[in-house]
Amino acid sequence: MPTTPLPPVDVTALVPALAAYARQAVRLHPRPGAPTVADSSLGGPLAWPLGEPWPYCHPGRWDHTFDGAPHAPVPYVPVLQIYARDVPQLPYPPGTDVLQVAWCPFDHDPYSAPVPRVDWRDSAGLDLLAAIPAPHHASPRATVPSPCVVSPEPVLEYPNWDLPRDLYYAIRSATRHDFDAELSVAPGTKLGGYPSWCQLPEWPACPSCATTMTHLATLASLEHDPGQERWLPVEDRSPTSTADRLRQPAGLMLGDVGSIHVFTCTACPHRPYESVFQNS
Ligand SMILES: [Zn+2]
Ligand SMILES: [Zn+2]
Repeated sequence: MPTTPLPPVDVTALVPALAAYARQAVRLHPRPGAPTVADSSLGGPLAWPLGEPWPYCHPGRWDHTFDGAPHAPVPYVPVLQIYARDVPQLPYPPGTDVLQVAWCPFDHDPYSAPVPRVDWRDSAGLDLLAAIPAPHHASPRATVPSPCVVSPEPVLEYPNWDLPRDLYYAIRSATRHDFDAELSVAPGTKLGGYPSWCQLPEWPACPSCATTMTHLATLASLEHDPGQERWLPVEDRSPTSTADRLRQPAGLMLGDVGSIHVFTCTACPHRPYESVFQNS
């Protein structure tokens, strides 16, 4: 199991006011593998409900704009499946115990990136033998995640861009460590915690109740960047580890090394969702 090292310094001992902002994230540590419908996975097969048709994208005027993209309906591709037995921390609506994320792999308005669809399921009603259509032959490889097994690991995060400015500068001057890169927000594919914004924060408001939504999941191009070695799992530090493969395990490349952040509303029982795409 990949293990994130402890932070090099206890930041809440240096700036106690930071403790109020701590949130737990669950890193997924995806690795190439052969997950089944009965497994939590990134890019693995989803256990779709019996009798429910697989979703197809019906592109709008400003969708599928790159050369060669079809304007006919194309099947969604599996992105994420998380069982509550593996990650109990998610805000599963009552009667559900599975989170599923899928998307159309072609570019979509307004970000020129995939727009995720989120479903919460009751594992008791899922068809473990459902046939999932193959991705459309013109699908960009960079937005169709190849199958990865996941190893969920809870970690503690502190925000950087989302902190009040005085607190942010107080913590930055209180430690010799690089707060943003080493002590704040975990990089890579994860659930909960804070988004690793690469531009200014863009927390969506719930379309139903207007509450600021909660970060549900990040689908990332890279699991970590150079300079973020603090987040590199202990097991991956040997010089013989296949570092590149571990950095981009599912082969995803979202825009210019971007991330798709998925948000949900925990105040609304039907869990409305929104997504935000950011790249550098
Ligand atoms: Zn589409
Ligand atoms: Zn709401």
